[in-house]
Amino acid sequence: MSLPRYVTHEVFNQSPPYEDVDLFAIDRPLQDAVRANGGRDAGLSEFGRHWGSADMMAQGRLANENPPRLKMFDAKGFRRDVIEFHPAYHHFMAESIGAGLHVSTWSPDGNVAGPPNEVERAARYYMVAQIENGHMCPITMTRASVGALRADPTLLARLMPKIASRSYDPRFLPWWEKTGITLGMGMTEKQGGTDVRANSTRAEPAGDHYRITGHKWFMSAPMCDAFLVLAQAPDGLTCFAMPRFAPDGSVNGLRLQRLKDKLGNRSNASCEVEFVDAFAWRVGEEGRGVRTIIEMVQLTRLDCAIASAGLMRMALAQAVHHTRHRTVFQKRLADQPMMRALTADLALEVEAAVAVVMRLARAFDHASGNAEESGRARLLTPAVKYWVCKTAPAFIYEAMECLGGNGYVEDGMLPRLFREAPVNAIWEGSGNVMCLDVLRALARDGEAARAVLASFVTAVPRPEAKTAAAFIAETLTAPDAEAQARAAVEQLAVLAAAAALAESGLPDVATLFAGARLGRRRGATYGTDSLDATAAAHLLARAIPV
Ligand SMILES: Cc1cc2nc3c(=O)[nH]c(=O)nc-3n(C[C@H](O)[C@H](O)[C@H](O)COP(=O)(O)OP(=O)(O)OC[C@H]3O[C@@H](n4cnc5c(N)ncnc54)[C@H](O)[C@@H]3O)c2cc1C
Repeated sequence: MSLPRYVTHEVFNQSPPYEDVDLFAIDRPLQDAVRANGGRDAGLSEFGRHWGSADMMAQGRLANENPPRLKMFDAKGFRRDVIEFHPAYHHFMAESIGAGLHVSTWSPDGNVAGPPNEVERAARYYMVAQIENGHMCPITMTRASVGALRADPTLLARLMPKIASRSYDPRFLPWWEKTGITLGMGMTEKQGGTDVRANSTRAEPAGDHYRITGHKWFMSAPMCDAFLVLAQAPDGLTCFAMPRFAPDGSVNGLRLQRLKDKLGNRSNASCEVEFVDAFAWRVGEEGRGVRTIIEMVQLTRLDCAIASAGLMRMALAQAVHHTRHRTVFQKRLADQPMMRALTADLALEVEAAVAVVMRLARAFDHASGNAEESGRARLLTPAVKYWVCKTAPAFIYEAMECLGGNGYVEDGMLPRLFREAPVNAIWEGSGNVMCLDVLRALARDGEAARAVLASFVTAVPRPEAKTAAAFIAETLTAPDAEAQARAAVEQLAVLAAAAALAESGLPDVATLFAGARLGRRRGATYGTDSLDATAAAHLLARAIPV
């Protein structure tokens, strides 16, 4: 073949871009999980097509290549304390708020909207995380903040119309002048993030409000319109709502010090902040700060798990897509036995991850007024966050390797997914803290936890499930439970995932997963599970139709 002058070679054997896909229609495990947990398909395919477009993928790259910048001062030295974002970031905020991801699980008056809103929102969140996860930080905090604000019905009634709005308004104005608002959260201080009781920030009563002085070492999405913060009031650690503007219209005393230079999550701003006599409303009783804000944290933990499952799904899709188009030694990579075993094993992990997060979302949907589902949500939220969020980084790395050198290069999406993944395990309670929380749930209501475990054994009637349940119960109640908890909590989440697959009408996949993750001794990497050829073909066809 003759080539035009200056063209040195023909480009071939590269996979076409993975874009312009319907993120819902192409994803059988997601469809099955949505249906099994009471969700309706209505609108999900349209949403999936829109978010899977080449344009949205390009916007995701732009939002992360152009991270936010803190503008502390204006040209004349006056303090501004504002964040400047790339238009792509604003684009995503408008899209997610327009779709109601920040509020769809609440009714307009701030009550629980009820089933299947959690499941349907989780499905959307899962798809959004595949495209751009950073902007979901303020989205998830806004939806979760309502959980804590419910401790103060009067304040909630004032803020809820602005929270419930589906109009994104990025202007730096008092919250009451805006068409819609977002909320953030400030708990972590320099001396402690896990141990918030050591918070040194002080709150002084000042009539119908408080004045807060101190700092937060991490406070994400600082352009939010208000923040739920913890501070020491006279009667102990208390939850407050701190708006960016005081009621008289002046800029409130939040002084942004610096933006964190983060490994990933780069489209999202995370700041260090000082509070200078900042105006705030108390939320809940003095001294009950942890109790109040935990209502918010439970919801953000669920979202961390959904987001990590979404990151894994996109990494898997990129790997399967590439291996179907790349030929090595005269054979498609997807037909090489070892690559098939590896990608099928990755697909199995995503089957389990999406099944368990959607089942957990259903537990949240039904928790109010249903002791069994609220017990399940209480026990499994930390366990599922622990397992899914910890699985994601190693999983994404393995998917990256399926693309060879292309996987490591920033032009593709894998490096961003890889850098994004660890934060979900660290924030909203790091790994060990999740295990301690499982122990706490067990100590508070052992009977409910035993019932949840028993339901898993019924759902997965296999010897390895029974053995795992016995190991979990024994380990988590042993005198040295803290030292042993990580292994048992991991098994708890894996067993919950096998049960979720079985409950989704996928007993074959449940059996494969239980056998591979609970039964046989497993290698340290994916692709070491000896799945047979039929199982591999089944899993890969479910991952992306051939
Ligand atoms: C990008 C980013 C954004 C963030 N945004 C926010 C935000 O918006 N608002 C906010 O409040 N915080 C935010 N954080 C802070 C985050 O929530 C904390 O970093 C996290 O909770 C851990 O707290 P720490 O950093 O003080 O670590 P530590 O509390 O010192 O914990 C260090 C390690 O010790 C482990 N550990 C703690 N206690 C025990 C124990 N008893 N036994 C065994 N191990 C234990 C933890 O699991 C962890 O691995 C953000 C963090 C990051 C990275």
